[in-house]
Amino acid sequence: MKTVQDYIRTIVDFPHEGIMFRDVTTLFADPRGFRIAIDQMLHPYAGLQIDKVVGLEARGFILGGAIAHQLSKGFVPIRKKGKLPGKTISEAYTLEYGEAIVEIHDDAIQPGEKVLVVDDLLATGGTAEAGIKLIKRLGGEIISTSFIIDLPDLGGRARLEAMGVEVNALCAYE
Ligand code: 5GP
Repeated sequence: MKTVQDYIRTIVDFPHEGIMFRDVTTLFADPRGFRIAIDQMLHPYAGLQIDKVVGLEARGFILGGAIAHQLSKGFVPIRKKGKLPGKTISEAYTLEYGEAIVEIHDDAIQPGEKVLVVDDLLATGGTAEAGIKLIKRLGGEIISTSFIIDLPDLGGRARLEAMGVEVNALCAYE
């Protein structure tokens, strides 16, 4: 049987020369691949209390939506600056070149809610850390983070675990 990794395509030199982009659209497009990925992402959380699933823009929306539906819980998007229509709080974080800002609606998480954070790939952990900070500022409790791909050499897992946050990933590229 094919594994999750078998459905992921690598695009060389995207978006810049020297980058090996792990393309999960081929995983999402395959009915078996997408189901296996969602089922495997859900595994560690069977029987746990989760109140909200938070997805990080943009591929975290696809995964997080499917996971929230499966858990019968609400889905909350964390988006890049300027995309959410209501009142938001924001966090800035450092990218390879420059800075990015992510936002969440200020009423999207209630104090004490148990939150699962979802994205497709963990690299430096900057995006996930900014998202976690937003959730914590609203009083949410991070139950765990779930990714399809971990790039351990870029340090994201160590960064999140140093914050006391659990990291689950289906596969890793060294
Ligand atoms: P980080 O903030 O951990 O450095 O980068 C993770 C973010 O960048 C995620 O939101 C992820 O979607 C995106 N990203 C970075 N590199 C890749 C890649 O090779 N493939 C995919 N699918 N996403 C990537």
